[in-house]
Amino acid sequence: MTKSRTIRGVVAAEAALLVGAALLARRRPRAALVAVAGGVLAGWATFRPTSPIYGPVPARGPRDAPFAALTFDDGPGPSTPAILDALRAEGVRATFFVLGRQARQHPELVRRMRDEGHQIASHGYDHGILVWRGPRYVRGQLERAELAIEEAAGPGALTRVFRAPHGYRGPATWASVRAAGYRMMGWSRGVFDSANPGAGVVVARSAQALAPGCILLLHDADGWNPEALRDDTAAAIPGICAAARDMGIELVTLDELGA
Ligand SMILES: [Zn+2]
Repeated sequence: MTKSRTIRGVVAAEAALLVGAALLARRRPRAALVAVAGGVLAGWATFRPTSPIYGPVPARGPRDAPFAALTFDDGPGPSTPAILDALRAEGVRATFFVLGRQARQHPELVRRMRDEGHQIASHGYDHGILVWRGPRYVRGQLERAELAIEEAAGPGALTRVFRAPHGYRGPATWASVRAAGYRMMGWSRGVFDSANPGAGVVVARSAQALAPGCILLLHDADGWNPEALRDDTAAAIPGICAAARDMGIELVTLDELGA
């Protein structure tokens, strides 16, 4: 299910709930109010990556230490080598939320992430959205990604950290992820590099977002289009690293950040 279909589905469910509540309101106004409040809260929580309604998702590290983390979702893809080159030139290690499907396409890049000291985490197998999905589907996404990543880079290459596609969750997501032995991870700020706004804009937004404990969301590929390029993101890395250095912030992996 695509992002837009998921959003339309939740909006339709909310609309149906409002109609039902309106019908109920004359006879049982309090019950109608509770239904509307619960429904609005559930809908809000679905699209709010760090809302605690569907379970706690860390979105930052400690604010009192001079560290922050760069995270890259959706790869590896065609721009991942340039991103790895830029990180290596800066001497910075980051965290990659890898898709299992992409690990099958580019196993050599997963090995390179491992060899260059980056943290490898899971973004699921094929970017399937979890909002309407039950435990079996969530477990399948995690297991298939795990198999692909470990076949590419060996056992132990994958850390048991998971970020849901778009951060969208449903009632079954958090417990299923925990039951599979993973912890969920969000982000402090996204810079919307997916829209390819130009490297200068990606640098400016990142510099504005960076702060102690910040987890920055970037993309080394595209969850829906495996051929899409993220050259703006690659070109922005020297500027992002320079901005962090100017602020006295060291860029580290998520495990090192302690998020
Ligand atoms: Zn994604």
